[in-house]
Amino acid sequence: MAHIVVPEAEAILDKEFPALDHGFVRLVDYMGGDDRIVQSARVSYGQGTKTVREDRGLIEYLMSHQHSSPFEQVILTFHCKMPIFVARQWIRHRTARVNEISGRYSVMEDEFYVPAEEQIRYQSQSNRQGRANDEVPPELSQKVLKILLKGQRELYETYSDMIEDNIARELARINLPLSLYTQWYWQIDLHNLMHFLDLRLDHHAQWEIREYGKVIAMMTNAVAPMAYAAFEKHVLNAVRFSGAELQGLANLLDGKEHGLKGIGKTEFELKLQKVSHSSS
Ligand SMILES: Cc1cc2nc3c(=O)[nH]c(=O)nc-3n(C[C@H](O)[C@H](O)[C@H](O)COP(=O)(O)OP(=O)(O)OC[C@H]3O[C@@H](n4cnc5c(N)ncnc54)[C@H](O)[C@@H]3O)c2cc1C
Repeated sequence: MAHIVVPEAEAILDKEFPALDHGFVRLVDYMGGDDRIVQSARVSYGQGTKTVREDRGLIEYLMSHQHSSPFEQVILTFHCKMPIFVARQWIRHRTARVNEISGRYSVMEDEFYVPAEEQIRYQSQSNRQGRANDEVPPELSQKVLKILLKGQRELYETYSDMIEDNIARELARINLPLSLYTQWYWQIDLHNLMHFLDLRLDHHAQWEIREYGKVIAMMTNAVAPMAYAAFEKHVLNAVRFSGAELQGLANLLDGKEHGLKGIGKTEFELKLQKVSHSSS
């Protein structure tokens, strides 16, 4: 089978789906879908597409046995607009091909991320990389918003002044903050895209990048729904237990205490919570 057309993907192609206050994700193009995964898995023994039920079973088998290369045959290209601090986390996924807007070439637009008031939280005590659940009093969140807006406005004014004085754009931009929006084309294969989603939809990832993860997950599901369902089942909603944790599970099944202590206990209990959430 030559070029694969997926009607659900065609329906969202080239449309901007918003993320955060000024960002978006747009599916620019895709190559392949569930059919391509099935064809490439079967090519080794020369059998074509079978029934939908058998295709689904094959995709599940591939996913659950980490037979990942057929998923690499599917490619997605996105146009994304995100704050620079989100882009810095995103760019760590090294297997994508990226073309980003150049602040050396273009004048950067006056667009900055300002968190919604409810996103302004205290530093978490349990997760050193994250924000706490407790709400911040409105006076304090208003103060934070004022500080952010004032800094953004002042820095953009000084940037514009330097541009007007014909200072090189590559120098004029260097004081611009992480909240400034950038844009890129991002192309990645489905296997590595699912790895990205696994890490960036997780609650350990920063809320802002998770918002992009949700939009990209919806688009991935449109391109390859069987693969996405298998990914949800075998990766996203799955949990990996260490040897000590498996012993803890065996203890629980025997009606005893699990026996894990300290940080190991916290991690184990969080995994059990994930199990109960994904099965509810
Ligand atoms: C919650 C969270 C917190 C994080 N905190 C930090 C932090 O504080 N500081 C920090 O620096 N980073 C941090 N990271 C980034 C993290 O360490 C990874 O760099 C990032 O998640 C990309 O993951 P990856 O390497 O598996 O993905 P990819 O780069 O997409 O790689 C996918 C797979 O290909 C392999 N691969 C890719 N390129 C190569 C290569 N050249 N050679 C060999 N194998 C390769 C990888 O090992 C991996 O298995 C954080 C990530 C998350 C999700």
